[in-house]
Amino acid sequence: MTLKVYNTLTRKKEEFIPIEPGKVKMYVCGPTVYNYIHIGNGRPVIFFDVVRRYLESQQYEVNYITNFTDVDDKMIRKAEELAVTVPELAETFIHAFLEDIAAIGVHEASMNPRVTENIQEIVDFIAVLVEKDYAYEARGDVYYRTSKFADYGKLSNQNLDELQYGIRIEVDDRKESPQDFVLWKAAKPGEIYWDSPWGQGRPGWHIECSAMVRKYLGETIDIHGGGHDLTFPHHECEIAQTEAVTGQPMANYWMHNAFLNIDNEKMSKSLGNGILIRDLVKQIKPEVFRFFMLSAHYRNPLNFSDESLKQAANALERIQNAYDNLKHRLATASDSSEVDPQLTDRVAAIVAQFVDKMNDDFNTPDAITAVFELVAEANLYLQQERVHAAVLQLFINQLQAFDQTLGILSQLADELLDEEIEQLIIDRTEARKSKNWARADEIRDLLTEKGIYLEDTPQGIRWRRK
Ligand code: AMP
Ligand code: ZN
Repeated sequence: MTLKVYNTLTRKKEEFIPIEPGKVKMYVCGPTVYNYIHIGNGRPVIFFDVVRRYLESQQYEVNYITNFTDVDDKMIRKAEELAVTVPELAETFIHAFLEDIAAIGVHEASMNPRVTENIQEIVDFIAVLVEKDYAYEARGDVYYRTSKFADYGKLSNQNLDELQYGIRIEVDDRKESPQDFVLWKAAKPGEIYWDSPWGQGRPGWHIECSAMVRKYLGETIDIHGGGHDLTFPHHECEIAQTEAVTGQPMANYWMHNAFLNIDNEKMSKSLGNGILIRDLVKQIKPEVFRFFMLSAHYRNPLNFSDESLKQAANALERIQNAYDNLKHRLATASDSSEVDPQLTDRVAAIVAQFVDKMNDDFNTPDAITAVFELVAEANLYLQQERVHAAVLQLFINQLQAFDQTLGILSQLADELLDEEIEQLIIDRTEARKSKNWARADEIRDLLTEKGIYLEDTPQGIRWRRK
């Protein structure tokens, strides 16, 4: 089965046909960098990382771009509150964001462009909109004239009359029409600003993505993604801006993830129930968090609770144990290159099942079911007393291949096998007996670095993984 992607724009699953064969241009709206990210923000971050990894596993070359909004009203307010400059605030939280997403196993983006590095492109973009009459200046602000863009509302499936003016959109007397949105904001005294043909100011939020997508990826891209709350107004406005200028579709596939709730409630500042990713990963293994995120289809809401995390941890442990056992048995396996052809066929069928499910609009929960089928086959095989290296290796390679997409296996086990740890502990005891303290310390440091902790007990030294 070929890859099918649910497109928010057409409200249908469509066959994925990239603009250029073998290549994917993908843009995911990134964070406003004024605070630490919470577990809800982790959903698009992890899901689109998996989309990118899966496309790469299918031999696509993916250009994956995600931006930083490093200047806007929230940034200005927060910088004032903390008595720092806007660039200082941005630096702090860009650093924190990159640290947090690395901690949850997210691969680095091809590029992370920032608004403040693209002001000229943004100004140029707005200038074209003004020139084409899609935008107008009003007392130092510039607004988009939504009535001129006939397709406004096509992504969120609303027409202009249905939009609830003045509820989500502030009514402003500078606007010709309440649903018009700001492209350039005049600076208030003391605010950070850039020069422009309309005076000193800064870009509105939506325009940055239109300018950066065009600059870094081109007029039409393959996939544009984000959380479903971005559908309207953010992505609707991006479409209006870009398509007014280029006359081409901005993206061929619009993808949006559903929300993560906590204990069946919306995460919100007023409820105070947000959990930061950096706090969560101190308490649970990041792989468990990824597994939990992928245990639901991305277009379904997902509920975060102690119970659902516990279930995720237990399920993941079954996969991790099988993986560790396969590697453990490799040390004593007999050497043979033959693999029972029936087993090879069964493994191939499981791989096909995994690919089919991922091809069905990235159905990660069903793809994980295929991983469990492989684990069941592996566990069955491991019950035998005599095992063959080639068979073990087949299972190991396949689990690793699945994991290239999912990123749910602990890498610690990859680095040190149990018997290697035990050997190091024996070496350390010997070193201490012969008063070779340097060697003993070196071994302890190595083990600590790999997340292995030693404990002296009356029965001897015990070890455990972090
Ligand atoms: P924000 O910080 O609200 O601008 O959100 C940054 C990204 O995280 C956007 O793609 C949002 O759609 C997404 N997001 C925010 N909250 C949640 C949530 N509870 N569940 C899933 N995605 C979310
Ligand atoms: Zn955007």
